[in-house]
Amino acid sequence: MFESSLKQLGDALRAKKISSVELTQSYLDRMAQLNPQLNAYITINPETSLAQAKAADARLAAGSADALTGIPIAQKDIFCAKDWLTTCGSRMLHNFVSPYDAHIISQFNNAGAINLGKTNMDEFAMGSSNETSYYGAVKNPWDTQRVPGGSSGGTAAAVAARLCAAATGTDTGGSIRQPAALCGISGLKPTYGVCSRYGMIAFASSLDQAGPMGRSAEDLALMMNVMAGFDERDSTSLQRDKEDYTRDLNKPLTGLRIGLPKEFFAEGMGADVAKAIEAAIAEYKKLGATIVDISLPNSKLSVPVYYVLAPAEASSNLSRFDGVRYGYRAPEYSDLADMYEKSRAQGFGAEVQRRIMIGTYVLSHGYYDAYYIKAQKIRRLIAQDFVEAYKQCDVIMGPTSPSTAFKLGEKGDDPVQMYLSDIYTIAVNLAGLPGMSIPCGFGDNNMPVGLQIIGNYFDEARMLNVAHQFQLATDWHSRAPQL
Ligand code: GLN
Repeated sequence: MFESSLKQLGDALRAKKISSVELTQSYLDRMAQLNPQLNAYITINPETSLAQAKAADARLAAGSADALTGIPIAQKDIFCAKDWLTTCGSRMLHNFVSPYDAHIISQFNNAGAINLGKTNMDEFAMGSSNETSYYGAVKNPWDTQRVPGGSSGGTAAAVAARLCAAATGTDTGGSIRQPAALCGISGLKPTYGVCSRYGMIAFASSLDQAGPMGRSAEDLALMMNVMAGFDERDSTSLQRDKEDYTRDLNKPLTGLRIGLPKEFFAEGMGADVAKAIEAAIAEYKKLGATIVDISLPNSKLSVPVYYVLAPAEASSNLSRFDGVRYGYRAPEYSDLADMYEKSRAQGFGAEVQRRIMIGTYVLSHGYYDAYYIKAQKIRRLIAQDFVEAYKQCDVIMGPTSPSTAFKLGEKGDDPVQMYLSDIYTIAVNLAGLPGMSIPCGFGDNNMPVGLQIIGNYFDEARMLNVAHQFQLATDWHSRAPQL
């Protein structure tokens, strides 16, 4: 049952082969057994989850179930969920019980899905290893000496360890795709604006996007059917017709044009990663695709551009955490200014403070033109590279991450090394494009390798088709860690 797809679970629930209460309880039992070792969840509320499961069973009995009714889904702790502790991985929100649901959460509630718990994450989604969480590092289920990636590392570990049927993540610079790659699962970052950001704690608003993480492209398509859609409470939410993301899964790939950017296959990628990626490309040729060599000349600037723009937006977004209305407040202070200062100094961890300082600096008078405006201009050039590339190909492929999962502590003292983990993913956020990662083999130390698939705007259904056909022909996505 822990290996069943979302479709199989939905069929079993509707056929009354299993109840949602039984299914939820088995996941809760497995979490009780394995979570202490993996630290994938920050908050688990068995009573709340089981009450939701009971309601789902009533809905199943009444015959009004949707595709995900009764299925236990984990939620990244960046999403506000009513009456749930919502920490964003930070001491700043260690006591914040959300009074409302994020749009994504209410979409899952309306679908009758079960909220199985809130998953661990890098503090305010800043990180690539899950080591910046106030709640401690998450362990990679394939090797608990190694990181799961970040910032959606708790979600990735929970999916890989079968501690939920599927889960949500968010991706500002790679935080869905990179942990998906490092944990051997599938993850999709949609086109910017497809999933509402309402109630999703903001990091860098022009880049942040929610998306599904799961064991297969088919599962991601079912998750997208719930998550995507217009929401008037988010001014960047796009007003588009509802799509069925499963509609193209079974199309053959004959004639598909895959663009391989030469910049992604240059120096920097590990030899073991390169081998797995090349084998995956060979598999796609067998499936009928043709290869086109393309170039994304400005993509090498994406990491520096991101580390100007994302901190700039973060410094502004995080100014709301001042210890006044909610969240952490320093126990001792002399006056109001001192209360702000101490609350922020004690409530935010080192990486978050570093980003606030960088962001404040690049936005300051005198540096604004030199850094922030310059970065905005290069961002446009990076996006334009993709527009040119899509004149020649249908999807772009390459590695998700330059290496497989590294050891806990290995990059902790070197922020630049850590930032380079996202060298292949960040350009996609800067351009607002959809991107995904699917497992495509194993590298040194038997750690999973992820293949990145980048689509054109709103091409999620095609990307899911491209991923699903690969998953019909290979079994990398169904390998599970021994626990
Ligand atoms: N690792 C990148 C960062 O630290 C991206 C994080 C994300 O996508 N949320 O900012």
